[in-house]
Amino acid sequence: MFTTGLPELVKMCTGCSLCWDFCPRGGLRYEALWPASTLQDHAGELAATATRSDPADTSWKITGGPPGDGLGSVLERYAVRASAKPDGVQDGGAVTALLCALLDAGTIDGALVSKPSEDAREPWKGVATVATTPAEVVAAAGSFYNQTMALAELDLSRYPSLPSRPRLAVVGTPCEVQGLRAMQARRWSTGAHRIDAVVLTVALLCTKSFDYESLILQELRDRRRIDLARVAKIDVVRGRLVVEYRDGEVALDEPVKDFHDAALKGCDECADFLGRSADLSVGSVGSIDGWTSMLVRTERGRRAFEKAHHRLDVRDLDDPDALARLDRLDKRIALGSLERAFDPEAPLFIDYDEHLRSYERTTRQPVVVRR
Ligand SMILES: Cc1cc2nc3c(=O)[nH]c(=O)nc-3n(C[C@H](O)[C@H](O)[C@H](O)COP(=O)(O)OP(=O)(O)OC[C@H]3O[C@@H](n4cnc5c(N)ncnc54)[C@H](O)[C@@H]3O)c2cc1C
Repeated sequence: MFTTGLPELVKMCTGCSLCWDFCPRGGLRYEALWPASTLQDHAGELAATATRSDPADTSWKITGGPPGDGLGSVLERYAVRASAKPDGVQDGGAVTALLCALLDAGTIDGALVSKPSEDAREPWKGVATVATTPAEVVAAAGSFYNQTMALAELDLSRYPSLPSRPRLAVVGTPCEVQGLRAMQARRWSTGAHRIDAVVLTVALLCTKSFDYESLILQELRDRRRIDLARVAKIDVVRGRLVVEYRDGEVALDEPVKDFHDAALKGCDECADFLGRSADLSVGSVGSIDGWTSMLVRTERGRRAFEKAHHRLDVRDLDDPDALARLDRLDKRIALGSLERAFDPEAPLFIDYDEHLRSYERTTRQPVVVRR
């Protein structure tokens, strides 16, 4: 059951650990994710001809070090900007332009993105939605610094206009792409969730996401008196949280570390800033303002990018080292925070018992009611 956005127990927890079995991120050893090339492929036009199937190619794995192992599997890398930038995009508008081009070309039937909540009590909260038209994609442009539980939206029963074998692009934070890859890697049915429909994954580079109420309502609205109705953009850039009003006034420019308590605790353990298991990774780091850094990771990603090329200004990535530097910092934090062993060579899923052993007597010890 979801009320605050977090799962809530509706009955007594018996400690059966089924949640561990059902949540695609529960027990996922994300650093050991399987290469995309081993997955089922319904991609149609985006289907890969060349893949990362060489067993010796482990560049898709998330290694803990040594520092400097690059940006993962990258075929091409660019700074990209939408040739005609719609209002509301976060950086270069590359994601919005790409999705619109793929929809217009009929290469995809929809895109799982995040749009602003329609609930007036939730300003600046992103909620997951499947956009089926370019207008809906444009309306969902920009970044929301909250978890949208995006993968739940892959139960497509709310979208009757989609064909019976839909082809979807998924935009999400690296952890969401990891969850998707985990579900694709499982051999059994995914129930109502149409994992089989996903033909393209776009990871937003991410060091951390936030709890909506803590960040937006408590820290920004209540403590710092930000008028959320006037806000045009919220951005985390160069280590600072920046809030701009529609009239151009900078309402807030403060170190993002001041908002640490509002960040999601699980993010500390994630060493996947670069979204290594996605087809495309996009972010602001590495490019000058107003442009999007784009890492093309798979053949499928390359085809999608080529399809959208006519809608994009494309040039060399300005500062790839900036990406590598932030990746190293992110990994250092993750490896310092993980209580279990970080092991890209170990099986994809962690036993619940192993998890309990690793986190026993830590602040993150699972709460198990034994009767
Ligand atoms: C929580 C979060 C943290 C980020 N951290 C970094 C960072 O540390 N460094 C960095 O370089 N870049 C980061 N980014 C990515 C950056 O903010 C831009 O999304 C990226 O540069 C693409 O810009 P664009 O103009 O091409 O995208 P746009 O054209 O504006 O499109 C962005 C797309 O992302 C979707 N989206 C927005 N919020 C979410 C969300 N919460 N979950 C899933 N999808 C969403 C939108 O619906 C839209 O389709 C982060 C993004 C998010 C959401």
